[in-house]
Amino acid sequence: ILNLNKTYKSAGRLLTVLDNINFGIKAGSANAIVGPSGSGKTTLLGLCAGLDSATGGTVELNGINLGSLSEDMRAQVRNQYVGFIFQNFQLLPTLTALENVMVPLELRGEKNIKARSLDLLDKVGLADRGHHYPAQLSGGEQQRVSLARAFSNSPRILFADEPTGNLDAETSEKVVKLIFDLNREAGTTLILVTHDLELAAKTQRIIKIKGGKLVADDITGNV
Ligand code: ATP
Repeated sequence: ILNLNKTYKSAGRLLTVLDNINFGIKAGSANAIVGPSGSGKTTLLGLCAGLDSATGGTVELNGINLGSLSEDMRAQVRNQYVGFIFQNFQLLPTLTALENVMVPLELRGEKNIKARSLDLLDKVGLADRGHHYPAQLSGGEQQRVSLARAFSNSPRILFADEPTGNLDAETSEKVVKLIFDLNREAGTTLILVTHDLELAAKTQRIIKIKGGKLVADDITGNV
């Protein structure tokens, strides 16, 4: 990420939300982005994941400059390399849990989609909930479905926005374990936005954003 800037236009005024952010993330590492509410963390995550485009500067993902791509091509890159977990889950309400997990695999034109999606649901402890719609699942179950969906394209990078924000302590522990297992076992790079300093302390590096600026970048000593 080089000289990254993002301004939003709102009520005819320009609002600078990210101001000249620079950092590089090591492949396979686990990283946290922390900072006060409204500091620009979600915006930064969205730009890194190619969900949104920057006003200025460069985001490179796996050597690909996202700014040079059309929205369609960005979607292809996301589908190929990126998993994303949202604080509010963002499951498709008209699809069952199983169908939600199947979507990324379908988009990639893969085979054995149903069996593989069932395996993923089993991995997050929800093998028996495949036929439930999101509204019929608890918050923790929905977050685990969204994890299974994020894992389904074997992402090189997992972006998670407050992955534990809406969960009780026990479910949160389960979700955190699944995320870090993915990092250790598959070498997936983690970039987690969180208010949870205990979760941040489990990563190897903590990047702090305040008022749209990068104000601290600390190595935690974890390996
Ligand atoms: P939180 O921890 O509360 O989720 P955050 O650090 O993730 O906050 P962002 O969601 O990135 O912060 O928002 C940063 C700023 O940008 C906020 O002041 C917000 O109001 C503003 N903002 C975000 N999205 C838009 C938008 N689409 N249009 C205009 N302003 C926006």
